[in-house]
Amino acid sequence: MSQLDVTFLGTGTSHGIPVIGCSCPVCTSSDPRDTRYRASILLQQAGSTILVDTSPEFRLQALRSALHHLDAVLYTHDHADHFNGIDDLRVFCKDRSLPVYCKEDVAQAIQSRFSYVLNGDDIAGGIPHLDLRILKPYEAVQIGGCKVLPIPILHGKREIFAFRIGSFAYATDCSEVPEQSIEYFEGLDTLVVGALRYWPHPTHYSVFEALAFARKVGAKRVFLTHLSHGLSHAGLSAELPEGFQVAYDMLHIAVGS
Ligand SMILES: [Zn+2]
Ligand SMILES: [Zn+2]
Ligand SMILES: [Zn+2]
Repeated sequence: MSQLDVTFLGTGTSHGIPVIGCSCPVCTSSDPRDTRYRASILLQQAGSTILVDTSPEFRLQALRSALHHLDAVLYTHDHADHFNGIDDLRVFCKDRSLPVYCKEDVAQAIQSRFSYVLNGDDIAGGIPHLDLRILKPYEAVQIGGCKVLPIPILHGKREIFAFRIGSFAYATDCSEVPEQSIEYFEGLDTLVVGALRYWPHPTHYSVFEALAFARKVGAKRVFLTHLSHGLSHAGLSAELPEGFQVAYDMLHIAVGS
């Protein structure tokens, strides 16, 4: 497997950090790692560049990471913090339709909330032109040089997708991993998992639940993401055991070789 390069475009929970109007220690922190855009990552492998989710800050994320080309987009689910930047995909749709891989329910959400990206007229390049491709659980798809496996996880009562590429997996907005999905997370070099806050939440892992899941599947290196303003980068980092790290915006990691 060729090296996979992962860039964290955003590591914050749905509000983003700072939260509007909040004056808590994290929202007013001078540590740049405490400023978090909504959760998204960029995957680059064997010449292919794939975006996971289009956060409301996608335009800003694309600018600060000098993104100038996309081969495809993957959606974990259609909550606003992972989805609403979809219109800014239009610059990546010049002279073509951009492949977008997602679950059936996300495709329906695109159809109902942003139908113009599927059926619109090509007027001066003003709208995205997306080519929807439906992902099935546990059925890998080859996207250029990158083989992506969608793994069902639970986000509250809702089933969404985590993605595995080689020995890397990204599981954000997870509150439970169904038993039949556990084996697909085994043998990981690097796991990125959502950890909202210290205490439990109905639709997201807490820090302790995220650690327990990572230990259960035996991931060698773990990064926590989708963090709320209840977690400071320095404070949480100091508490984590060996092998666990706090992700931050624009962190770049390489997996495999
Ligand atoms: Zn989210
Ligand atoms: Zn705050
Ligand atoms: Zn969500």
